[in-house]
Amino acid sequence: MNILVANIGSTSLKYRLYAFREEGPKLLAKGGFERVTDYAATINECLAELRHNGVLQEASDLDAVAFKVIVAKGISGCVRLTESALEAMEHFSRLAPAHNPPYIAGIRQFAETLPGVPLIGLFETAFYQWAPPAFRRYAVPASWQEAGMERLGFHGASHKFIAERSAQLLGREDLSAGIEDLYQKGPPAVAGEKPLRVISCHLGGSSSITGLRNGVAIGNSFGTSPQSGLPQNNRSGDLDPFALLHMMREENLDVAATEKLLCTEGGLKALSGGYNDLRDIKSQADSGNEQARLAIDVLVEQIRHWIGSFYLSLNGLDALVFTAGIGENNPWLREAVCRDLDQLGLQLDPTKNESLRGEEGEISSPDSPVKVLVIPTNEELVVAREAQRLLHHTP
Ligand code: AMP
Repeated sequence: MNILVANIGSTSLKYRLYAFREEGPKLLAKGGFERVTDYAATINECLAELRHNGVLQEASDLDAVAFKVIVAKGISGCVRLTESALEAMEHFSRLAPAHNPPYIAGIRQFAETLPGVPLIGLFETAFYQWAPPAFRRYAVPASWQEAGMERLGFHGASHKFIAERSAQLLGREDLSAGIEDLYQKGPPAVAGEKPLRVISCHLGGSSSITGLRNGVAIGNSFGTSPQSGLPQNNRSGDLDPFALLHMMREENLDVAATEKLLCTEGGLKALSGGYNDLRDIKSQADSGNEQARLAIDVLVEQIRHWIGSFYLSLNGLDALVFTAGIGENNPWLREAVCRDLDQLGLQLDPTKNESLRGEEGEISSPDSPVKVLVIPTNEELVVAREAQRLLHHTP
């Protein structure tokens, strides 16, 4: 079975092709296109590239195209992306203006270009279905809750991968298979053992933190939308709703202008005075730019805030994991996040930390009670696997 995972951005298309054989999933090809203006042409280019590389004879050799979709009204989990699913995504488009519209357009284009090939979406929110009601509920009228305005959580595919892989690395193979089967079988049964407590920090262009008890998410720093939680590259992160209302009145901003501002001019970009890539912000800070320094301090403070929250909810910690573009590649940020936490059992090994960039490994000192790990994430694998399972059960 061949499954193409398509990662759609507003002007990009990245893909990975997986083949599922008896022995498990195998990555056959990966690639991507930037500065996409014509999705139909780019999808054809992608298929031509796969044919050219010899991994696909015909488009009909694809058993499904799978997507890491964000949010839809009343739908989560792994589903066929039918017209009614797309309409449910459209209904919540303004919760994810940077994500839902390009995904909906891209999925429609795939449907047109590849008629008859099943299109499947794994919603990022699916991973939080077992989070406690006290995490999910906002203190708003019940009618808002019924309209879907609750903490949903995102980056589910990434945090699920970290949950599985960290359990393996921490010697809990008894749990990792159960975590892999989470969406089919529910939370893994744990016999008598003390729970495995992990905090997963997905830090990238978009960032979130999740607490994991036995691989099951107890919450996530994102709320109803992927604009919330930590400061994102150019999206604001958490904000007092009354600050928002006050500024809309004060600056005479309508809803569209406010949305644009919070989604494209907020986050690290706003804090640093225009830079939204952490590499640029760090080099600015190193050359004395005070705004850039503050942007880093705010990001680190917020990361520690969420780690602290989950540390308490988990009643301690076995491992802290860093992943995604920022988490995997920036030892200086990991050092700042873990600074002065020895009383909580976290001690980095400076040499290991410094040497680990973009690879998997342990960066805590040998006697640190809490392990600190770097794990490159693999969201596409999680998406492909769930799509394969859906097809297997409902071909
Ligand atoms: P992501 O969204 O996971 O691709 O992460 C994007 C972020 O990761 C950007 O803010 C970059 O600053 C950071 N990043 C990606 N690659 C590197 C690298 N090799 N070194 C330092 N930072 C990186």
